[in-house]
Amino acid sequence: MSELDDDLRVSACERCPALVESRTRIVDGVGPTDADLLFVGEGPGANEDERGEPFVGRSGDVLDEALRDAGLARADVRITNCVRCRPPDNRDPTGEELANCRGYLDAEIDRLAPDLIVTLGKVPSEHLLDRSVAITSEAGEVVDARIADASRRVLLSVHPAATLYDRSQREGFFEGIALAAEVAGVGDATKSGGDGQSRLGEF
Ligand code: SF4
Repeated sequence: MSELDDDLRVSACERCPALVESRTRIVDGVGPTDADLLFVGEGPGANEDERGEPFVGRSGDVLDEALRDAGLARADVRITNCVRCRPPDNRDPTGEELANCRGYLDAEIDRLAPDLIVTLGKVPSEHLLDRSVAITSEAGEVVDARIADASRRVLLSVHPAATLYDRSQREGFFEGIALAAEVAGVGDATKSGGDGQSRLGEF
């Protein structure tokens, strides 16, 4: 894919006319290209579009806090999105836009070969699992899925923003990130953001 540089940066891609119109910049994934944990969100919002980094602003603060709780720093993990350009009015990316950007995401997943992919929200969960996902009830589950020509382990999570408008989601979100660290064997897996109980036996 010619627009994708060796460092997994995308340059000058104009496949999605509406997103080219609405974006300020292309927002590439951040973090080590050999990270054990890969977080995948839906796409850049206003803060991300402005700063050129996925999951900044209030949602990013929640993710950073959950990572810290699990003994991880943002610099320890890789964070990316299904689409790299901000949709207008923060609408969901269309199926065509998701498909347009999929090659970049697959190349990123293929390069990292992470121990675990964490999908942050319904859109990335459905996009990577290729099925409907009831994210509130399925969050915290670890499943195997065929992604980028290999079997990958995926942990489903609500979007960190969900914890901002519904405080009852916070404990589950933090538990999910702690579980992700435990499954990937990184961070402080003994430190849980929730009830302190390992859920490894559940899958
Ligand atoms: S969302 Fe992805 S495929 Fe679409 S224009 Fe941006 S970089 Fe290209």
